[in-house]
Amino acid sequence: MMDVVKKLDAQDPLRKFRDEFLFPQTPQGENYVYLCGNSLGLQPKRTQAFVTQELTDWARLGVEGHFEAKNPWLPYHEFLTQPLARLVGANPVEVVAMNSLTVNLHLLMVSFYRPTKQRYKIVIEGNAFPSDQYAVASQARFHGFDPKEAILEVFPRAGETTVRTEDFVELLEKNKNEIALVMIGGVNYLNGQLFDIETLCKKSHQIGAFFGVDLAHAAGNVPLKLHDWDVDFAAWCSYKYLNSGPGAISGAFVHEKFSQDKSIPRFEGWWGHDKQTRFTMPSSFVPIQGVEAWQLSNPPIFQLAALRASLEIFDEATMTAIRDKSKKLTAFLWEQISTLPSGFVTIFTPQEAEQRGSQLSLKIKGGTREMVATLRKDGVIADFREPNIIRVAPTALYNSFEDCYTFVERLKKHAH
Ligand SMILES: *Cc1c(COP(=O)(O)O)cnc(C)c1O
Repeated sequence: MMDVVKKLDAQDPLRKFRDEFLFPQTPQGENYVYLCGNSLGLQPKRTQAFVTQELTDWARLGVEGHFEAKNPWLPYHEFLTQPLARLVGANPVEVVAMNSLTVNLHLLMVSFYRPTKQRYKIVIEGNAFPSDQYAVASQARFHGFDPKEAILEVFPRAGETTVRTEDFVELLEKNKNEIALVMIGGVNYLNGQLFDIETLCKKSHQIGAFFGVDLAHAAGNVPLKLHDWDVDFAAWCSYKYLNSGPGAISGAFVHEKFSQDKSIPRFEGWWGHDKQTRFTMPSSFVPIQGVEAWQLSNPPIFQLAALRASLEIFDEATMTAIRDKSKKLTAFLWEQISTLPSGFVTIFTPQEAEQRGSQLSLKIKGGTREMVATLRKDGVIADFREPNIIRVAPTALYNSFEDCYTFVERLKKHAH
């Protein structure tokens, strides 16, 4: 078996990227098998140089670094525009790096959740990430609605583990006069389901609702075409598949069709003001055209530097090649898990490649936090969720077929 696995790795066109990353080390000084890229991605080796450059220029130049740094800080976020646009399938005017994810969701809902007495409901996927649930519920409450009434969740059918697109569409149709906003996780954090964003977006618009998507588990994981799909807004964090470090700066997308829209309400700050006149400190706000108008503050340069280092790798590897490998790697992991004694592991991620990204979510018979701790002693880092769920994400940039094989071998010891 090991020969087969080694051959798969040898044939992997992205194998050289593994060497671009720093792996946590076991007490024996070996790389951990790291399967938590959906939670906190590994550090690219080049990140340190990108961040150090800005530390050096700060030391060397002080405030003049805004203009004279090797990468001037004043326009630094613009270095990210093109790579971010490529990453999510957007036009440059539609993307910006700012704030963190939940903050951006709120800022975007200020603009895109404008309920009326008649049309006030928000649709999210069942088992949405808690922060998203809190965000939509508090938005509803803020506008005077009871979340129990205002929030609609879409769950899988009884006995099924993933939501059918047709059921989602039907729920939208049934509530078509009451839904103001549909906001889902592009890839659900718990079961790893990749939603049909294009279809759901189209249907949302057809019933007169805005459509937004949280790409926390989708950005850097699956190819996206936010502009062509006509998504109204999106936000994502950069510390999961995007490998930009704990608490990394978030990304935001607002469709170009709103870039000239003066009717759209927005919370505003000086960094969203027209660049030509920003430093004349005028007292009234003139928005930059496009998503940059949503910026409030001058951004954290070290964070932008880390994101820039990471996006350089995505440009070198390309999302097409990443997706291609991700499908093969995840299918291989599925295959290996299927060899385990029957009843020990149930996978509740969709099996069909088009309906998932790099993550498989496993229900383990007798699975406990201690089991995951033992796996760690055995050289494997995986993620545990109560009551008995292990999530594993073989990421295309730095995981190998051997990683998947080793994980299953170590897990096997716990089967009985
Ligand atoms: C990871 C994740 C978050 C985390 O939010 P932060 O504001 O970055 O802390 C929110 N929503 C989803 C769907 C996530 O997966």
